[in-house]
Amino acid sequence: MDLYADLHIHSRYARATSKDLNLENLEKYARVKGLGLLGTGDFQHPKWQQEVREKLSEEGDGILRSKSGFPFIWQTEIAVVYTQGGRGRRIHHIILAPNADVVTQITDFLKRKGRVDYDGRPIFGFSSIELVDSMMSISEDIEIIPAHAWTPWFGVFGGMSGFDSLKECFGDRADKIHAIETGLSSDPPMNWRIRELDRVTLLSNSDCHSFWPWRIGREANIFELPELSYKGIIRAIRNRSVKGTIEVDPAYGKYHFDGHRACGVCLSPAESLKNMDICPKCRRRLTIGVLHRVEQLADRPAGEKPDGAAGFFSVIPLSEIIGMVQRCPVASAKTWKVYNQLIEAFGNEYALLLDMPQEELAKACGGKLADAIMMNRDGRLKVEPGYDGEYGVPRWGDERRKVETEKPAHSQRTLGMF
Ligand SMILES: [Zn+2]
Ligand SMILES: [Zn+2]
Repeated sequence: MDLYADLHIHSRYARATSKDLNLENLEKYARVKGLGLLGTGDFQHPKWQQEVREKLSEEGDGILRSKSGFPFIWQTEIAVVYTQGGRGRRIHHIILAPNADVVTQITDFLKRKGRVDYDGRPIFGFSSIELVDSMMSISEDIEIIPAHAWTPWFGVFGGMSGFDSLKECFGDRADKIHAIETGLSSDPPMNWRIRELDRVTLLSNSDCHSFWPWRIGREANIFELPELSYKGIIRAIRNRSVKGTIEVDPAYGKYHFDGHRACGVCLSPAESLKNMDICPKCRRRLTIGVLHRVEQLADRPAGEKPDGAAGFFSVIPLSEIIGMVQRCPVASAKTWKVYNQLIEAFGNEYALLLDMPQEELAKACGGKLADAIMMNRDGRLKVEPGYDGEYGVPRWGDERRKVETEKPAHSQRTLGMF
């Protein structure tokens, strides 16, 4: 059976997260979404780690289970800030760990290098190479995955402070990197254009800072495992046998196009080139988005699929589709009401977005919404591209819906489902 896994999560101890971001809510909304495995997020944070140890029980297979049996694996994200090749680098990495003992050793290492208690995603001054060396000296079962690899400031390939290749970033340790997280603003076909990535697994996660269904699991990985274990997950990542990913349209991501958010300027890579990458409004350098950056580094023409590349689904979250059709915000009572009805009818969001026949959908929610869900599934839905930190916006007819802010409104708490 397919297992949907979101392996990049944050806790309420990370910056800009909801205070209700606890294990219970993560599990509840993961089930609503259709996820079957989550990362714990933020494992080196003392309070969060304590909570994980208290509330989840660890079995010998590296899987942590809640009381009701929902599985998690130990996961965190850290930032490293350093100079290499004469340039300042800021890179985020996801770390997966095989058990509590290894988590203790990683935490001790990080504590020797800096503080771990002020943010769920702490910052350290060592290099990506030192990260690999120190993790491998703790356990070869630790997996290091460059996070949201293409985002301008914190991605390993980012246009502002990243590298041009894994080889440049990791040197002769590059073979210890078995996967990258492609991030919301890129999809597998964009990554296929880089030959160096043919040997790595392309993973997709939500990097969510809240548990709402339009954030958690908005991207995820599909595993097919004989039985669930940490080793099985890692083996699939290292053998490139992950079955595929669930992606959003890359235009939905916050850094797909180039631009300046404050100037309200959003440009395609071709338009930026015409402007010499300078903002036509403020005359400063544009924030170069993911599409542009992929074009810069590409060594394979668009449209070619490398051998053995995994498949993927491309769908944006159901709440966005409901909001778009009803012309109301994703977090509104009106959207929640329809969302809850649909989850009740079909069990979980992925089942509905990916599998449910149109007639069944139309019976439950009417023809208009069923049409929109099918358009989303078939890739016929247009998304106005995101840029410079602004999310992309799905289009319904000619109307442009106002973009939601990340901060959960008070009403969400009282309107939350189930
Ligand atoms: Zn990050
Ligand atoms: Zn500007």
